Amino acid sequence: MDPRVEKFMANIIAKNAGESEFHQAVQEVAESLVPFIEENPKYKHAKVLERIAEPERVIIFRIPWIDDKGDVQVNKGYRIEMNSAIGPYKGGIRFHPTVNLSILKFLGFEQVFKNSLTTLPLGGGKGGSDFDPKGKSDNEVMKFCQSFMSELFRHIGPDTDVPAGDIGVGGREVGFMFGQYKRLKNEFTGVFTGKGREWGGSLIRPEATGYGTVYFAEEMLKIKGDSFKGKSVTISGSGNVAQFATEKALEFGAKIVTLSDSAGFIYDPNGIDAEKLEYVKELKNIKRGRISEYADKYGVEYYEGKRPWIVKCDVALPCATQNEITEEDAQTLVKNGCFVVSEGANMPSTPDAVEVYLNNRILYGPGKAANAGGVAVSGLEMTQNSMRLSWSREEVDSKLQSIMKNIHETCRKYGVESDGFINYLNGSNIGGFVKVADAMIAQGVV
Ligand code: NDP
Repeated sequence: MDPRVEKFMANIIAKNAGESEFHQAVQEVAESLVPFIEENPKYKHAKVLERIAEPERVIIFRIPWIDDKGDVQVNKGYRIEMNSAIGPYKGGIRFHPTVNLSILKFLGFEQVFKNSLTTLPLGGGKGGSDFDPKGKSDNEVMKFCQSFMSELFRHIGPDTDVPAGDIGVGGREVGFMFGQYKRLKNEFTGVFTGKGREWGGSLIRPEATGYGTVYFAEEMLKIKGDSFKGKSVTISGSGNVAQFATEKALEFGAKIVTLSDSAGFIYDPNGIDAEKLEYVKELKNIKRGRISEYADKYGVEYYEGKRPWIVKCDVALPCATQNEITEEDAQTLVKNGCFVVSEGANMPSTPDAVEVYLNNRILYGPGKAANAGGVAVSGLEMTQNSMRLSWSREEVDSKLQSIMKNIHETCRKYGVESDGFINYLNGSNIGGFVKVADAMIAQGVV
């Protein structure tokens, strides 16, 4: 490791003990930025990177609620207000038993760079709880969301901090949280994005992250004079991002052969077509079942406890969770001919896996660039709420496409190497940093 990065990281690790995911996210960015900052001393003198790595504010709170049996339950709630240099804090809420301070700080940190890349005026934040919505009744989820919002409402607002969905938080949860916010504040404002269509939501918001991940991959392929047409694609996850990545890749003429959940993956050699995708949406969003049921219904293989990266493919779209592609998985992917990885999930590849992609010069779109479509359309939802109007599906989709193209161009500009290879990792880190850093310098030491 570069000794300057090592020194910087020693300080981060000492100040944020035990937060391994946060260390991982900061180190990945520091490796791109430390050499860039050396060449641009104004950022060094203002200690911008040191300041970006410290959240502006962290809120941790108790969430008591009563389950259907009448028993009292207690969960932990968090909101990380990471950076507001270029706009109000913006980032999703995650409900998953693995949620802790380290995971939310890593997500908040990534969000700062991602939001900057969108070119929209959005700061970075993230929040959530260790609550597990799986196996809970609608009534229990509502009780929990109301208790969560009974504390969070005093910290957020349409010009302060605007949450959205993430793992375990979809339309149902956003509805319950927005309802409680409105009741407590007596205000109907754009305080949340990912809202229902009838009450201020934007068309294309549910689709945006998955579609955007595919648009970004298509831009990377275009550079090589190639496209999705006829490509074999492995996708992990079967939630919001995975479903709409599948939908767009299908539309672009690809064959999608896998989907997964936390228990295992299905391999469908004939491809997941539009009808099978409808079944997955119904299974996951309404019945809230397991992906193994797909294997029973369509008579395909189900791999219990395994991830899809052992299946041969041209393009891999990890859309489940952090660190789901290890070094060994990356080596298997490359050995089997995979030459595009576009990350729908946040930090799905371990640092060693990323090194495998870069050493093999494959097209690698890191999450902060490739999955920025979700927050970009959230930004468009905020604009529509402020203007009290709503744009058509076509309008939002075409804005999303042009934002993903711009992000790709920013990554190219800052990531192109002397032999023409585009290091999208460096490109996204530096491209996301510059705007935030300049704003922080202009606003003084605050
Ligand atoms: P969902 O909750 O809709 O779906 C998550 C999917 O990933 C489910 O299939 C889930 O399986 C699986 N999964 C979750 N945790 C694990 C785990 N520890 N191991 C294996 N599989 C897991 O979430 P989203 O689709 O919204 O989010 C997926 C990823 O995309 C996350 O990394 C999120 O941060 C990122 N993202 C999401 C955005 C959005 O707009 N929603 C925006 C940008 C990034 P199971 O049902 O078994 O838990």
